[in-house]
Amino acid sequence: MASRRFAVVGAGFAGAVIARELALHSDRPVVVFDERPHVAGNCHTERDDATAVMVHRYGSHIFHTDRQDVWAYVNSFMPFRPYLHRVLAQTPRGMFWLPINLLTINQFFGKAFSPAQARAFIESIGDRSIVEPQNFEEQALRFIGRELYENFFYGYTKKHWGCEPAEIPASVLKRLPVRFDCNDCYYDSSLQGIPESGYTELVRRILDQPQIEVRLAEKFSPARCGEFEHVFFTGPIDAFFNFQHGRLGYRTVTFERHEAGGDFQGTSVVNYTDLRVPHTRIHEFKHFTRWEQHDRTVAFSEYSQATGERDIPYYPVRRPADIVLLKKYYALAAETRAVSFLGRLATYRYLDMHNVIAESLDFAKVFLKDYHAKSDALPKFTPSVAERILNRIV
Ligand code: UDP
Repeated sequence: MASRRFAVVGAGFAGAVIARELALHSDRPVVVFDERPHVAGNCHTERDDATAVMVHRYGSHIFHTDRQDVWAYVNSFMPFRPYLHRVLAQTPRGMFWLPINLLTINQFFGKAFSPAQARAFIESIGDRSIVEPQNFEEQALRFIGRELYENFFYGYTKKHWGCEPAEIPASVLKRLPVRFDCNDCYYDSSLQGIPESGYTELVRRILDQPQIEVRLAEKFSPARCGEFEHVFFTGPIDAFFNFQHGRLGYRTVTFERHEAGGDFQGTSVVNYTDLRVPHTRIHEFKHFTRWEQHDRTVAFSEYSQATGERDIPYYPVRRPADIVLLKKYYALAAETRAVSFLGRLATYRYLDMHNVIAESLDFAKVFLKDYHAKSDALPKFTPSVAERILNRIV
């Protein structure tokens, strides 16, 4: 028999935010489970033992959003220090700023174009025979042409996703703008920063509520759902259903650590777009916290591979075969009583931190409204929501 408690599975942003809203706005105890020994999921940060630099254990995370309410929410737990993300791409033809901007175009093609000339030039090299791009490669060929595609995107994307870029959705490339001014910031978002004491401490503070019990290093079995009034599941959706329709494709990443005196690469992230270089990028974490002083530095080279049974899933690949499976899992989710599926892994979408926080906050409002109206059937995140999302994002 279900006790009058809520369970939240996963202590990343999706889980932490919904747990806090439930704790603040209901009278129910909330139990948060995470199989790892820390909160914050893949955003986990901790001080490196040897250098004392705050490292992002699972790769760089830069907070950026246009939503004032999301920015105010995260800042209410911890001040965010100003940080504008800039990325260098080491390509087969040299090093350039990315996303592609006016300087990149002029340096790469050896020109001195004005913004209007650069725009006209890039339009002229795009493949206009592609009317409605159906995948990443077509999107690139249509909007930036073969030369830029091959030097900036083909190799990186093949290494990162482990397949031909023609097999992944066009939406992945749409994450990166092409600019005809000299703005070299990686993100367009108006609000950007790094939490002063790291993401793990931030998530710990979100979860710091008397009604919330956090159980770390404890794997939640879906067989236990019946013990709770409602379960908010933020782990992989295929794992929840015991992979009964097969495994969805995820990419995982591994890191090789480098330690040095002073500075390793002079900036926080350098991408390696050449297929012959095995790593995809190098992260050097002290450049995220320039307000701190460190004599030594630590950097991680990132390697991407398919996710094995014991690996941590990072990126939903969303090849056509995955989408066929995903629809079956969404159908199962729709039939599963009293379980909501929230966040990147449970909805199998390529979401950033700010999207995840916004969705958890938005869904909490809907859920709690019905909860207080004593509705018999509390709303679930998914299936209709997920179905709409599937059409929009894939
Ligand atoms: N990408 C690329 N070359 C780069 C950077 C990005 O081809 O130097 C492509 C790649 O397919 C990547 C996608 O653009 O997965 C989105 O990049 P983003 O920086 O958003 O990836 P994330 O930081 O989430 O891994």
